[in-house]
Amino acid sequence: MLRRTKIVATLGPSTDSDESLAAIIRAGVDATRLNFSHGSAQEHIDRATRVREAASAQDRFVAVLADLQGPKLRISRFSDHKVTLVTGQHFVLDAAMDKEAGTDERVGIDYEQLIDDVAPGDVLVLDDGRIEMEVESVGEQSITSRVLNGGVLSDNKGLNKRGGGLSADALTEKDRQDIVTAARLGADYVAVSFVRTAEDLHTARRLLNEAGSEAGLVAKIERAELAHDNAALDAVIEASDVVMVARGDLAVEIGDAELVGVQKHIIERARVLNRGVITATQMMESMITSPMPTRAEVSDVANAVMDYTDAVMLSAETAVGDYPVEAVKAMVRICLGAEKHPSMHQSQHRIHETMTHVDEAVALSAMYAANHLTGTAAIICMTESGATPRLMSRIKSSLPIFAFSRHHTTQHRVVLFRGVQTIPFDTVSIPNERTNALAVSELVSRGVVQDGDLVVITKGDYVNAQGGTNSMKVVRVGSEIN
Ligand code: PGA
Ligand code: MN
Repeated sequence: MLRRTKIVATLGPSTDSDESLAAIIRAGVDATRLNFSHGSAQEHIDRATRVREAASAQDRFVAVLADLQGPKLRISRFSDHKVTLVTGQHFVLDAAMDKEAGTDERVGIDYEQLIDDVAPGDVLVLDDGRIEMEVESVGEQSITSRVLNGGVLSDNKGLNKRGGGLSADALTEKDRQDIVTAARLGADYVAVSFVRTAEDLHTARRLLNEAGSEAGLVAKIERAELAHDNAALDAVIEASDVVMVARGDLAVEIGDAELVGVQKHIIERARVLNRGVITATQMMESMITSPMPTRAEVSDVANAVMDYTDAVMLSAETAVGDYPVEAVKAMVRICLGAEKHPSMHQSQHRIHETMTHVDEAVALSAMYAANHLTGTAAIICMTESGATPRLMSRIKSSLPIFAFSRHHTTQHRVVLFRGVQTIPFDTVSIPNERTNALAVSELVSRGVVQDGDLVVITKGDYVNAQGGTNSMKVVRVGSEIN
């Protein structure tokens, strides 16, 4: 059975050797994430080049996702690179001090505006939740807190406020430069961190277009403000192509107790609004140092699959972990297992709603026909922009959707969508009346369908025009196909 849920793997030192990169792609990675919080522009460019080479050597389409750092607040550095904070002690964040001279009593901060954004009683959370401190007083240049949860704190660790509400802009000066790098390396997707409004995404899209990129936009949902405001969340989802449930910072802002409910809500809204969705962060955390996931991690990945996420993501597990290939293999195994559950194949998507677009009505009709017609083995979708397979894959199904396209950019775009496989197919050089027969024989030669199977095909009257899907046909493999 073909796996439907897609796997995003973050690249880093653990995947930098050619063997390791080839191995995680062979194990099943569908998209690679370049984390712009770390590394130089040249490193990202080199990694993207190596992904293209490794994927084409395996005859695979693997997407490149450039993830912008965003206004992630960070502490500066310690003289000894790390300190141990004791629960109950006082600790000062000091905007005026030497950025390299932190001690176990105080450390510098890169974002001075933080001083205006916090008040006594606020809880600051460091290093993705490992250390917490309550603000006691705020001075001209410094914040004094009492440590609620101590531990080791090292250079440049992230800092956020429980409850959200930090006013930093979603696109920093660094992000604006990184957008140009993302365009240069031909990113298929660009992720915007700490998105607040649809406007942040419009700005990112404009900057990308100016840099000559048509990359899809991923909105990372990691601010409490969006988790608690349905209208604001919907507006952000609609301004994006794909959203990410960015659970690391999201859980810091809203607390871990509400996270699972919010994850389910975000996934559902993304699907209803015809957008893709990635579930991210700490999915296989223990596999950074262990070859086997815990039962809780197995359950977490399976749960996201059953929420019907498009993709699940690996972060440090592949970037810096000891077992990157095992982590991908474990994810593949768990996705396949969870996809067997009967609830994964029945859909009510938009069944009681009206539609305004012909391509959406055709895409959904094709999926309902395929799901309900006994003997159907596959869906073929001739696509220019990738919009139709995205619409189709919003519908739960056990049948593979084959996106046939002549554009490599489109092929790299659709690999992120659940249940979608892609096949290069040059509709321009084929006479219109031969398209269906040739597409079906391509699936026969790949062993996906055989004589007697039904195949549902969608295309536009003008197969080479974008947004033009207006027809659906059901053909039987082995009989004459027009
Ligand atoms: P990050 O985003 O890894 O860039 O912080 C993901 C998250 O916050 O979960
Ligand atoms: Mn984050």
